[in-house]
Amino acid sequence: MFHIKFINKKRVIYSDIIPEAEHFFTTRESVIRSSEPEIESIVKENKKDICNYLKIDKAMLVSPTQTHSSNIRIASKTLDSYPNTDGLILDNYSQAVYLNYADCTPIILYDKKHNIGAVLHAGWRGTAGEIGPKAIEIMKQEYFTNNEDLYAVIGPTIAICCYNIGEDVYEKLKQTISNMEPYETFVYEKIYVDLKGINKQQLIDFGVPRENIDVCPYCTSCNNDLFYSYRKEKGTTSRHSAILKLIPQKEEI
Ligand SMILES: [Zn+2]
Repeated sequence: MFHIKFINKKRVIYSDIIPEAEHFFTTRESVIRSSEPEIESIVKENKKDICNYLKIDKAMLVSPTQTHSSNIRIASKTLDSYPNTDGLILDNYSQAVYLNYADCTPIILYDKKHNIGAVLHAGWRGTAGEIGPKAIEIMKQEYFTNNEDLYAVIGPTIAICCYNIGEDVYEKLKQTISNMEPYETFVYEKIYVDLKGINKQQLIDFGVPRENIDVCPYCTSCNNDLFYSYRKEKGTTSRHSAILKLIPQKEEI
C-alpha cells in the first residue's frame, strides 16, 4: 500500500512493502528534476532537503542520462556519469539513485535477502524491451537473487484511463506478457493499455511473487495536480522522480 510522507513539508509517496529500503516518489512539490527556469531555485532547495533527509552528500545522489532504452548499469562511486541508461542497480550504502518520469512507469526492485535494489524507467519502449526482467536477470547473475526475495514497487504512471496507443506499440507490448487481456481496453476503436499492469505481469512471468508487488493507484494524467504528465501538459521538462537508498540491515552492522 502507498502512503504519503513529508520531506521539509513537501509530499512524497512511498510503499510499505519494502520498509527495509529508503525509497519514495517525488511530487510536483518535491520536484528535483526540471529545466523550467521559474522553478530552478525550488529544485535546488528540494535536492538539498532530500540529501539531508537521506544523510548523503549531493554528489552521492546520482541519476543516469535516460534515453528510453532498456540499458541497465550498476551504480558505482568510481563512475561520474551513466550515459544512455534507463536502469540503475544499487548495491552500496553511500549512494542514492534516482530516475525521472512524466507518464512513464517507475519500477523499484528490491532483494530483501541481499539488500540490493534497482530503479528502472519503463515507458512503452522500456516495457517493450522488458527492462524489468532484464534487471532481474542481472541481479540473479551478479548477486544470486532468488525469486522469493524479490519485491517490486511500481510508481505513478499514466493509467489505462488515459493511455491511448497505436496498434504498432500495442503489438510490441502484447508480445512481452503471457496474457494481455486484463491490461487492455478498446474505446471507439482506440486502444488503451495499463502500462503498470503490463510491467507487473512481466515481473510475475519472470518469477517475482505476485504478493510482493505493490502498484501505485495514481494516474499521472488524472492527478496532474500532484505529478507531471507529458501527455496532459503537452510536453514538460519537469519530472517526478523515483529514489532509492539502501540502509544497512541489523545483521550487517
Ligand atoms: Zn487517467
